[in-house]
Amino acid sequence: MTNLTNEEIWRGVLGEMETSLTKASFTTWFKDTRIVSKENGQIVISVPNGFVKEWIQNKFNKQIFTCLKQLDNDVREINYVVGNPFIKAPDSRILAKDIQFEQIQETSSDADIDPKTNLNRKYTLDNFVVGTSNELAHAASMAVAANLGKAYNPLFVYGGVGLGKTHLLQGIANKILRDSPDKKILYIPTEKMVSELIEGIKSKTAEEVKMRYAQKDVLIVDDVQFLAAKETTQDIFFATFNNLYNRNKQIILSSDRPPKALSAIEERLKSRFEGGMIADIGIPDYEMRLAVLKMKMKNKPVSLPDEILQYIATNIQKNIRELEGALNRIIAVIDLTGREPGLRDVEKLLKAYIQASYRKTSAQAIIKTVCDFYGISLNELLKKSRKTFLVKPRQIAMYLLREDTKSSFPDIGSRLGGKDHSTVIHAYRKISDEVDNNENMKQEISLIRERIYNKA
Ligand code: ADP
Ligand code: MG
Repeated sequence: MTNLTNEEIWRGVLGEMETSLTKASFTTWFKDTRIVSKENGQIVISVPNGFVKEWIQNKFNKQIFTCLKQLDNDVREINYVVGNPFIKAPDSRILAKDIQFEQIQETSSDADIDPKTNLNRKYTLDNFVVGTSNELAHAASMAVAANLGKAYNPLFVYGGVGLGKTHLLQGIANKILRDSPDKKILYIPTEKMVSELIEGIKSKTAEEVKMRYAQKDVLIVDDVQFLAAKETTQDIFFATFNNLYNRNKQIILSSDRPPKALSAIEERLKSRFEGGMIADIGIPDYEMRLAVLKMKMKNKPVSLPDEILQYIATNIQKNIRELEGALNRIIAVIDLTGREPGLRDVEKLLKAYIQASYRKTSAQAIIKTVCDFYGISLNELLKKSRKTFLVKPRQIAMYLLREDTKSSFPDIGSRLGGKDHSTVIHAYRKISDEVDNNENMKQEISLIRERIYNKA
């Protein structure tokens, strides 16, 4: 049987491994592996990174050896080498033995930050997913990148946390640098700018700092809501803004709210901010959330079935940062266990995550949304009536109050028109049970939550 080629042998081994592992696990560990040489009974297998190497050696070596031996009786020894430079090594955090999912932080690694420009290479316009909630901001950004200082000046992008402002701003910068590497661009978070200015004022070098900003072709200031109410820093920023603007240099700003609502900022600066294009980024809808997940999966060494991606997209609604966090959490589990989690596991994994982000909501918002959702009045919800069309919303309100605000059963009872705590417990159990067993109920709760948490 020794006349099989290396490729054929490896295919045989893979076929064997595939049957004993889940699809995700198989992909995780065996994607991009191959036999690179076979001499004198020594087989060298190349794997994409050190993490995979260690894992395969510890977990699968014996099984691989047995398979190989069946296909080629000469085999005596296997060596693994890290070979494929195109696959990113997983984060070392994943190697931590007793990993706590709560502790996984979604910080980008320093390797992604270009030390010269402070730009994150991962933030490009190409991998920025466009949907109805951000298409204006995206289109304006493209226009600005293509016509510096001419299309819209300044470009002012605003939106809530984790919705992609920094990604978009840095995406513009990365694109400009790629198209015209000689352009001088400064991307600076507002806090950093403010501290540079304050430091400059203290050490009497403010003029130099100002000059440094004014030399740029493009000045990008992220999160201007952090511009302090301090007069001097605003003075300097105002002067810098005018200087750049008057010479048709591009200015790009972001904020968590529209210019008008920036209360700490002087009128003259606000009206400058309003002088160009103002584009908002809103909360992504389901389609977009799913598209973002699919985009993010492209860089991952594993694959996940659509069912799981859809589950995440349905349940993580607040912002894209959390969506990404949830995805990374699940991938970390696959990396650790080498096993694709089922939908049930994913539900459990995300539960703590989802609840942590829901907890901040108010009871009032829940009650109001439930009433709106079922088209009943608050009075009807609070009434003692046993009519089915009222009982169900009431029970759902109880359930959501318990799950999402962690209120005590007696508290919930008194909030809902003085119901006994045993009534609340009964309702909570009933709805919990239905959520687990009835697809419609699950959907309904999901839709209500979407309304509660997507309210601007
Ligand atoms: P903000 O600055 O508004 O708080 P970020 O730009 O930091 O938000 O985005 C948070 C995370 O979500 C980042 O990892 C970013 O890559 C991702 N993200 C946000 N919007 C998009 C998008 N439209 N497409 C792809 N990824 C996105
Ligand atoms: Mg940001």
